[in-house]
Amino acid sequence: MTTTEQNKGAAIVTGASRGIGAAIAQRLADDGYGVVVNYATDSAGANSVVSAIRGGGGRAVAVRADVAAPDDVAALFAKAQQEMGPLTSLVNNAGTTGDQARLDEQDAERLDRLMRINVVGPMLCAQHAVRAMSTAHGGAGGTIVNIASVAARAIPGIPGFVPYEATKAAVVTFTRGLSNEVAPEGIRVNSVSPGVIDTAMAAATGGAQQIGASSPLGRAGQPSEIADTVSWLVSPSASYVTGADITVSGGV
Ligand code: NAP
Repeated sequence: MTTTEQNKGAAIVTGASRGIGAAIAQRLADDGYGVVVNYATDSAGANSVVSAIRGGGGRAVAVRADVAAPDDVAALFAKAQQEMGPLTSLVNNAGTTGDQARLDEQDAERLDRLMRINVVGPMLCAQHAVRAMSTAHGGAGGTIVNIASVAARAIPGIPGFVPYEATKAAVVTFTRGLSNEVAPEGIRVNSVSPGVIDTAMAAATGGAQQIGASSPLGRAGQPSEIADTVSWLVSPSASYVTGADITVSGGV
């Protein structure tokens, strides 16, 4: 944070130990938010994101919580309030692809886990965010951004991700529905649908550069390009934007 930027309150970024979440955490800290860097297992990654933010003069803290576990999520929001003060923004970024396999070869328990992380997790986090930010609960308003995916459109040619695609379609619909519910209470809710972004997740599913090369812009995106969009969505510059899904995909 530069000295000219004012304190914009607390922002929770789930799944911020690496990849897109880490870039969003860094960007929101640069914008003046006190950032809660959530992670599930990668404490070293989360701590290095926090160190980078603090090294640049920003405010950040790492908090472990599995977004699929209701008690963990409650503790995450309590800790965020304690460490960073009133919440002004939630970014539901944590996600997983699940197994890459045809539907008839998927394992039932792992399907359930995928739904809990990608769909129930953002809902649990948004519940707490609404309770903290809604003017109906005495809050001052705020923003929620959900990271969906162009996979929500189930684009042909990327086999083995039918359940993942369905979870991201659920995120887009959840975003729109929740935006209607809380618009009168000072909360804007939007989603961002990335195309192929150069992260560990993309590397594990066939190589970001290789898949990205087939996009109209001819390359994979960078995590910072998603962070730029999130930064805009949470800012007053997007004050008339709610219920939107912004595609950031190189034209896919
Ligand atoms: P990534 O590199 O695999 O990072 C995933 C992050 O989520 C990690 O910080 C991980 O932390 C965290 N996480 C996973 N399960 C969690 C849980 N149960 N609770 C809390 N945190 C959890 O993924 P990414 O590529 O940055 O993707 C971030 C988001 O963008 C995901 O929602 C993904 O679906 C979406 N997306 C990605 C792409 C792409 O091409 N990369 C495209 C479209 C959409 P731990 O390691 O500590 O568990």
